[in-house]
Amino acid sequence: MKRVFLLLLLAVGCQAHDGWTAWEKTVIEQSDSLMYVTVMPADSAILRAKSIDFGPRELASAQLQTLLAKMHRTLTDPSQDGVGIAAPQVGINRRLVLVMRYDKPGKPIEPYLNIKIDSLLGEKTPGPEGCLSVPPYRGVVRRAPKVQISYLRPDGTPVTEQVEGYSAIIFQHECDHLDGILYTDRADTVYINQAWAAEREGYSYERPAWWKR
Ligand code: ZN
Repeated sequence: MKRVFLLLLLAVGCQAHDGWTAWEKTVIEQSDSLMYVTVMPADSAILRAKSIDFGPRELASAQLQTLLAKMHRTLTDPSQDGVGIAAPQVGINRRLVLVMRYDKPGKPIEPYLNIKIDSLLGEKTPGPEGCLSVPPYRGVVRRAPKVQISYLRPDGTPVTEQVEGYSAIIFQHECDHLDGILYTDRADTVYINQAWAAEREGYSYERPAWWKR
C-alpha cells in the first residue's frame, strides 16, 4: 500500500515538473499545424504579458520541436505570410521568436530561444511596420539599424551576434512582443492598411473550440 502511494506521488510529481504548463501543452498538442494567431484586443491578456525563459527540461522536450514546426508552418502560411512571429502570438508566453534572416542567403526563417537584445546600435530611423496580431493596421516606427542579440539555438548552443538591416528591425519588433509591447505603442502614426483589410475579408478570427483560458 505504502509503495503504491509512493509511486503515485512520483507520477504526480513528474507530471507537475516537466516544465510546461498545462495551458502550454494544450496549445502545442491541440493546435493544428496552422496555429490560431492571437489578436488585439481579444487576446490582450496574452499579448500584454511578459514572457519567461525556457528551462532545460522544456529545451530537451519533444513538445518544443512540435511548437517550432507549427510556428514555422503558421508564419509561412499564405493566410499570414509574415517575416517574424513571437510565441505569445500563438498563445505561449515564452521567450521564443522566429525571424526571417534577410541578411543570409535564401532568407531562412530561424528560431531564437531565450532571446534578449543586449544593445541597440546606430541612430534610429523611421520605417513601416505591421503585426499579425494587430490587423489590418500599419504604422511608422523608429528602430535602430543594428542590434546585438543573445539567444539559444534549438540544440541549446548559446550565441551572441550582431544583426543589421531589415532583420534587425524584425528582431526589435518580435522581442518587444516578449515584453508585452506592440509596435503600435512605439509608432509615430498608425493607419489602416487597405490592401491587408481587403485580404482579410472573410478571414476567421474565431478561436479553436479547445481554446479556453
Ligand atoms: Zn508583431
